[in-house]
Amino acid sequence: MFVSERKHLTGMSRGELAEFLNEFGEPRYRADQVFRGLHQRRLQSFQEMTDLPKALREQLCESATPSVLTVESKYVSEDGTRRFLMNTADGNPVETVFIPTENRDTICFSSQSGCALKCDFCLTAKLGLLRNLTTGEIVEQIITVLNDVYGPGGETPHGTNLVAMGAGEPFMNFDNLIKALEIMSDDDGLFIVPNRVTVSTVGIVPKIIEFSKLQRRPNLAISLSAPTDELRDRLMPINKRWKIDDLMAAAKTFERTLKPGERFTFEYVLLGGVNDSIEQARKLAAVLRKHGLHRVKINLIPHNPAEQLDYHPPEIDTVEAFKRTLESLGVSAYVRTPRGRDIFAACGQLAAKHEANPVKLTTSETAELTL
Ligand code: SAH
Repeated sequence: MFVSERKHLTGMSRGELAEFLNEFGEPRYRADQVFRGLHQRRLQSFQEMTDLPKALREQLCESATPSVLTVESKYVSEDGTRRFLMNTADGNPVETVFIPTENRDTICFSSQSGCALKCDFCLTAKLGLLRNLTTGEIVEQIITVLNDVYGPGGETPHGTNLVAMGAGEPFMNFDNLIKALEIMSDDDGLFIVPNRVTVSTVGIVPKIIEFSKLQRRPNLAISLSAPTDELRDRLMPINKRWKIDDLMAAAKTFERTLKPGERFTFEYVLLGGVNDSIEQARKLAAVLRKHGLHRVKINLIPHNPAEQLDYHPPEIDTVEAFKRTLESLGVSAYVRTPRGRDIFAACGQLAAKHEANPVKLTTSETAELTL
C-alpha cells in the first residue's frame, strides 16, 4: 500500500482514533495507548509502541502511518534558530522554525504550503498557494521539531510556545488549524495549552468573529502594517476585501471576549520610508482610539529583507521614534528582534529556500547547542 493511502493517525482526535481502532475490534483503551504513543512519546513508528500487541502493530503498519512529512533539510542560524524544510508526501514544501530563548522555546509552524495572500513585503507570497495542510501535517511539524531538538520522545526542559506564523494564512485553513490545536492541547499528548499558542492572521473578518466565539482559544495577533486604507490596500491586498474599519470592528468584537488581564496583538512590519513616520505612528494610535481598542499591544517587526523584495528595514532610530510616539499616546509597543535572518527563517522569509549549507546534526550535538 502507498503511504498516501494509509491513514495518518497523527491528525486524528481521540474519538476518531477510537473509531478507527474499533474497526479492528480493538477496545477504547487501545486508542488511548496509540494517542499517547504518537503525541506524548512522540513515536514515529508503530513498531516502537511495544505496549501494543504485535499483531496490532503489524495491522497498523499495513493500514496507517504516524508520519507523512519528510525533513528535506535543516538550517541552523548563528543565533540558535533552526529552520526545517520538510516535504509532504505529494511534494509540497512545509517550513517550521524552532526559536530557542533562555527560558522557553517557540515553534513557528505553517498552516499552508505557500500562501494565497499577496502581501507585497513578504517572500512567502511569491510561492502562491500550493495547498492547505492537513491537521496531521500541522501536528507532525511540532513533533518533528521537538524530536530533532530533544531527541525522540526526549523531555522538553522548557515550556513550548507555538505561533501560527509560518507560511500561509491560518484563518484560511481554520478547521484543520483549530483541530490540530485541540489535539496538541491534550494533557495525555503534547500538552501545549491554548494560552501558550498565538495565531496570526492578516484579518479574515468572519473568521475573527468565529474565533472569538471559541471556548478554549489561543491568543490572537492581527497583521496590520498600515494606518490608512490607501497604504494598506497597496501593501496587503486583503484590505480591498475588508477595510481597516471592518477589521477594527471585528477586533473590537474579539476584544470584548478577552478574559481579565488578557490582551491581543497587532503586528506592524516596519518598512523603511513607507510606513515608519511619526505621522503614521500617530495615525495608528488614532485608529485604535477611534475603535475604542485599549487592550492591545503593537509588535513592531523591522522588515526582514530579501533580494526579491523592494523593501528595507528602517534605521534603528526611526524604529525607536515610532515606538516612543505610540507609547506617548498610550499604546504599548514592542520591537521584535529578528531571529534567524541569516538562514531565511525570520518573519516573511519562508519561501522554501534551499541553501548551500544545510546541516545534518546528530541529536546529541543538537541538544548541546540549545542547552
Ligand atoms: N498570514 C498570517 C500568518 C503569517 S505571520 C499573517 O500574515 O499574519 C507572519 C508575520 O510576518 C506577519 O505579521 C507578516 O506581516 C510579517 N511579515 C511578512 N513578511 C515580512 C518581512 N519580510 N519582514 C518582517 N515581517 C514580515
